[in-house]
Amino acid sequence: MTTALRHDWTREEIRAIHDLPLLDLVFRAAAVHREQPDPSEVQVCKLISIKTGACPEDCSYCSQSSRYQTGIDRQDLMDKCAVLDIAKRAKESGVSRVCMGAAWRSAKDNEQFDKVLEMVREVTDMGVEVCCTLGMLNESQAKRLEEAGLYAYNHNLDTSASHYKSVITTRTYEDRLNTLENVRKTSVTLCTGGILGLGETIDDRVDLLHTLSHMAPHPESVPVNILSKVPGTPMENSPDVPFTETLRMIATARILMPRSMVRLSAGRAKLSTMEQAFCFMAGANSIFSSETKSMLTSAVPSPDYDQDKAMLELLGLAMRPPFKGDKHPLGCKGAKEGGCEDHEHAHEAEAVGVK
Ligand code: SAM
Ligand code: SF4
Repeated sequence: MTTALRHDWTREEIRAIHDLPLLDLVFRAAAVHREQPDPSEVQVCKLISIKTGACPEDCSYCSQSSRYQTGIDRQDLMDKCAVLDIAKRAKESGVSRVCMGAAWRSAKDNEQFDKVLEMVREVTDMGVEVCCTLGMLNESQAKRLEEAGLYAYNHNLDTSASHYKSVITTRTYEDRLNTLENVRKTSVTLCTGGILGLGETIDDRVDLLHTLSHMAPHPESVPVNILSKVPGTPMENSPDVPFTETLRMIATARILMPRSMVRLSAGRAKLSTMEQAFCFMAGANSIFSSETKSMLTSAVPSPDYDQDKAMLELLGLAMRPPFKGDKHPLGCKGAKEGGCEDHEHAHEAEAVGVK
């Protein structure tokens, strides 16, 4: 018997699950997780920062906001060839999803957006899922991304509606929800979750899970980020998030949204293999991995491909293939090699992956 999907969890129910004795919570989440067709599979994603820094927003955790002196090297929209080269190498390492992030407040109907559409088309043609995170989108932009073959759109809610204004003042929670609705009008899947460590209470985390689990359908992917404390941002001296709180968040998300991918995102690099094993046991089944270990400017420093392969092997986990059970949006069979002749900037760009 599989757990029925619910979109009517009450805050009290969510809090009661979240507060269960830790091992009871993990056991319950693991049981729900094992109802998935392939509970031993983990989706490995690669993040490419296609446009870095100089963002007008004031998200108080972000290295890319122009409001803070974070020492990040700003980088204009990357050349398509450089993106294709990184995507090609990622695919060769077993990555099934490439996420392209831009430090934009919102997408604009301009040449840059057209270039992103081309990148989406060509990376999708290589036979990997493509996710974009470009800030706010209107309906027609979401539609154009769908037509280019986009598989997923990431747009995090970060925290509860009430705590949001203490973290970001240049846009509202409603703005965020509007973009998610615009994406939902297309066949592009949703990737949306939060960050732990923004000074939120446990009730704020419960509120975020309440909002996510009331979405019908549930977001296909739910990132659980742990704040990466970036020097120069207002959050640089925030207290650490105890590991057990991350584990509780992952396990509760798994129980509330049994079929969603729960993504262990920013902050994973700080967890030991055994802590990560606990997260996988509690239902995490997606991670970011990278080609280079040292991503010093990154908000999401990820362990490298080899390290991650060794970890998954040790834990008896497998890398999930792309488009599992879904039709490829552009009808491609993943046969195209992809990549570019011009390798000039590819390695340079690799080092500034920021999400
Ligand atoms: N500008 C777009 C936006 O805000 O949606 C896309 C890029 S943004 C950098 C992607 C996500 O990364 C943010 O929504 C946030 O949840 C996460 N993020 C950014 N900086 C972070 C940090 N220092 N620690 C943890 N997560 C972070
Ligand atoms: Fe800009 Fe996104 Fe960073 Fe906010 S999180 S400052 S919108 S890049």
